Amino acid sequence: MPRIRPQNVLAAQWTPNGGAIGAPDLTSPDNQVFGANVFSTAVQRQRLPKDIFRRLQQTLAHGGSLDISLADAVAQAMKAWALERGATHYTHWFQPLTGSTAEKHDSFWAPTGEGTALAEFSGKELIQGEPDASSFPTGGIRATFEARGYTAWDPTSPAFILENPNGAVLSIPTAFASWTGEALDHKIPLLRSMDALSKSAIRALRLFGDKASARVFTTVGAEQEYFLIDEQFYFERFDLVTTGRTLFGAKPPKGHELDDHYFGSIPERILACMLDTERELSKLGVPVKTRHNEVAPNQYEIAPVFENSNVGSDHQQLTMQVMQNVARRYGLVCLLHEKPFAGVNGSGKHNNWSMGTDTGNNLLDPGDTPHDNLQFLFFCAAVLQAVDKHQGLLRASVASAGQDHRLGANEAPPAIISVFLGSELERVFGAIERGEAGETTPGSFLGLGTPVLPPLPLHGGDRNRTSPFAFTGNKFEFRALGSSQSLSLPNTVLNTIVAEAIDALADELEKELGQGKDLEAALRPILQRSYAAHKQIIFAGDNYTPEWHAEAERRGLLNLRATPDALPYLVSEETVALFSNYSVLSERELHSRYEVFLEQYVTKLNIEAETAASIARTMLLPAAVRHRALLLEAQLPELTRELEDLITSFVESIKRLESANLADNQPHDDVLDHAMYMRDAVIPAMASVREDADRLEKVVADDIWPLPKYSEILFIK
Ligand code: ADP
Ligand code: MG
Repeated sequence: MPRIRPQNVLAAQWTPNGGAIGAPDLTSPDNQVFGANVFSTAVQRQRLPKDIFRRLQQTLAHGGSLDISLADAVAQAMKAWALERGATHYTHWFQPLTGSTAEKHDSFWAPTGEGTALAEFSGKELIQGEPDASSFPTGGIRATFEARGYTAWDPTSPAFILENPNGAVLSIPTAFASWTGEALDHKIPLLRSMDALSKSAIRALRLFGDKASARVFTTVGAEQEYFLIDEQFYFERFDLVTTGRTLFGAKPPKGHELDDHYFGSIPERILACMLDTERELSKLGVPVKTRHNEVAPNQYEIAPVFENSNVGSDHQQLTMQVMQNVARRYGLVCLLHEKPFAGVNGSGKHNNWSMGTDTGNNLLDPGDTPHDNLQFLFFCAAVLQAVDKHQGLLRASVASAGQDHRLGANEAPPAIISVFLGSELERVFGAIERGEAGETTPGSFLGLGTPVLPPLPLHGGDRNRTSPFAFTGNKFEFRALGSSQSLSLPNTVLNTIVAEAIDALADELEKELGQGKDLEAALRPILQRSYAAHKQIIFAGDNYTPEWHAEAERRGLLNLRATPDALPYLVSEETVALFSNYSVLSERELHSRYEVFLEQYVTKLNIEAETAASIARTMLLPAAVRHRALLLEAQLPELTRELEDLITSFVESIKRLESANLADNQPHDDVLDHAMYMRDAVIPAMASVREDADRLEKVVADDIWPLPKYSEILFIK
């Protein structure tokens, strides 16, 4: 008898052939691969003429502009280095508004006209590229007949070499702007926001007597969740291939979850794939640090050591790319969708965020002197104030079709933005608010008199895993990002809103200090006011409960459930004023993002709806009909009737979805209206097709059901 599902057996038969990487002797310096494919500062020091290296470092430190002679020298060294490593092409690597990365490859080699070719790559090619921008979304910033876009070298994010079995490409991180100078990417606003925050923070630090720091960097470390599934199941599921998630699939039998629990041991094939991924990332200078199983079966997490926001965001894009590439070497597919399997925990990304000075101080580290603590409380209060004031914008910065299955649905964190401070810190702020703060005495925390508090524990047991925005000892963890998302926009938003809050508090502090008060006396009323005004954003309980939703509503906190509810906050009056004050995004640039994101939402849902209708009609309905014939032949009238009812309902659902899709193709005046139509008409229509299909899956003969089932995809490894 033939096997019913031979792919299950094949999927389980993994051997490390071909993909084996072996175990290099790490005591040998030649085997240390970290940064081997990066044009790092160390490589630059070694390869650039001394004075060029010094000038480049100076320019980078001060954020000045580069002159072309410098660029020529750097280009020459970069080219020689890349050619030695087998690179034949170079590319300006950038982040268009689609959220992924884009590249156009140019050969180093140009024909000389004498039948030979010469490697060419000058400062001009390094500094600027001119890709045809017409195929990247711009939200109306540039009509397609003016399809000129410019990429500009970002010397603060190191160039790297991407290897391929058949060659290598020098990748140069770049910014992408329209010919009118507007940002068409995610990098430019991120860089601008880092500048804005640095200015505000340095200004505040001066008030605290810090004269040494010249720049403040925001830092980011992302914990990335993902699924790895066998590629055979993936390629048999048209929905996974085209939409990244399963549009059908009945829940597997209960109890299976226990099979592969959180922090459990990692299966051999998965670990082999992870090790290889980490090795590749290591070559690219991405400092990967931790890996473990996540809650759902076949779900894992990878996290790097934090870096400055710009490099960290670039590295995060690279991480996602490398994870997907390497998985294929192991017969696996890496799923980055926020909700690949309904009813199974989805994937998010935790964005750990802090601010640090160029002299090495983390501004969100409580520190162990009263002075350090005061400074810490100031910056901490600024974050609270910023998050409270701009809840809607933060929520908008993580909005997408995939995210709507998590935020505001039945999965954490909720769409309501709130902050978890931890009980010690909450007590400190509470005491300040009530005016219980006394003079500094030795041994007391912050001179708060009573209660005498111990230093804040860095990794205390006091954690709250349900909070969307949690203080975790020396950083805040924004936990509401989607797994496939670029870090750039949420961090751009964080940096900008916090810059504004720091300035607001620094204005007040300047005034108080101007009246001759000492730092502690000056700061106390400011913290008191700010905390009292913004403590509504603080919540320490379980964010998943209906009680919290009711409480949040009483407090007047925003609960923006779906993408079309959230995105308008990108272009609200407050956001426009904030972003133009800090020169991070102009009104036009904000509107272009708003439109691009809405369009992406509509397009993704449209593709999902069409895929669902097509699978339902051409794969699932025929299977149900075949099963009916079997039942008829076997003369099982009761089962036949039961199935016929299901089929009738299924056919009706399919027709409703198809007509919702047809109506969707009618022109909509406004892209927001269109998005709301998708939310209100198309999504429910898809859901009811799915509901019927999932019921059919449970009754139709297994050997004629055309899609691999959850119990196979999630548990065979
Ligand atoms: P958990 O799972 O408990 O949240 P992990 O150890 O998995 O913690 O991840 C912590 C993340 O926080 C890492 O990516 C780490 O680099 C990052 N991180 C630590 N300190 C900072 C900081 N100062 N700024 C930004 N990110 C940080
Ligand atoms: Mg975390």
